[in-house]
Amino acid sequence: MRELTDSEIRAAFLNCSKGEAKRLNLPRELSELPWVDLDFLGWRDPQAPDRAYLVTVQDDRPQAVVLRSSSAAGWQLRRSICSLCVTAHTGGVSLLVAPLAGPAGRQGNSVGAYMCSDLACSLYVRGLRETGTRIHESLTPEQRIDRLRGNLAGFLAKVRGAEGN
Ligand SMILES: [Zn+2]
Repeated sequence: MRELTDSEIRAAFLNCSKGEAKRLNLPRELSELPWVDLDFLGWRDPQAPDRAYLVTVQDDRPQAVVLRSSSAAGWQLRRSICSLCVTAHTGGVSLLVAPLAGPAGRQGNSVGAYMCSDLACSLYVRGLRETGTRIHESLTPEQRIDRLRGNLAGFLAKVRGAEGN
């Protein structure tokens, strides 16, 4: 994806107030991130580790989402495969929950997805980061990148509420 600026990212949030988007913590040194190898940028809030964020670009429009770690799941989680990049982990997958955009989200509705806890899906599909847990797949890196982008687009559509109504 192309490099994004601080103000572009803050303006792109679908599911939080403008005030919240203004205050939330972005990664330091945005210009030093490996943008060319990212399908989306995901990060944890250093001051609130149960909060995470991701931003991507669709049709040249930045789209960002606020996420929370689900406290309900905890140690009972058996899932170990990221629903976005389909990377297998041992204990490296989190259930992250996004409030829906607009009034539905303000009423408390949300959508959850199992994601790599470090939000580094883009690096896993490119073989730039390894988990040590392998599932055999015959897909090429390009096919895994396409699948990640498709899964991410599906998740964003759910956050926007564009599906199911
Ligand atoms: Zn992943």
